[in-house]
Amino acid sequence: MAQAQDRKLAAPPVNFETQPFWDAAAQGKLLYKKCAACGEPHFYPRPFCPFCFSDKVEWQEASGRGTIYTYSVMRRAPVPYAIAYVTLAEGPTMMSNIVDCDLDAIKIGQAVKLVFKPSDSGPPVPMFAPA
Ligand SMILES: [Zn+2]
Repeated sequence: MAQAQDRKLAAPPVNFETQPFWDAAAQGKLLYKKCAACGEPHFYPRPFCPFCFSDKVEWQEASGRGTIYTYSVMRRAPVPYAIAYVTLAEGPTMMSNIVDCDLDAIKIGQAVKLVFKPSDSGPPVPMFAPA
């Protein structure tokens, strides 16, 4: 049975725009952005709303609940892992990994919850495990 948690994670790139996201991640929080002009949430965080191009975008904390929109298992990797698009309960869809589970048992539409996995000398990386 393939387990994903032994995979080494490279430190994610942190820059001015994503610093608040990774600072929150270090505290176990997942942030996304919501547009104050049109009300649409989005992910990944951007300086402008991808729907109406307003710059009135604000950080919001996600509940950590979501469902798997689609996924793919990378079986040729040294340690197989599952990459997935997870739709957060708040609406936006984010690319992530599904961890702490049997990779063969992952299903589209499955309920998942936020977990953080340590990266190699960087902030922890948000991922999802079966809820
Ligand atoms: Zn907008």
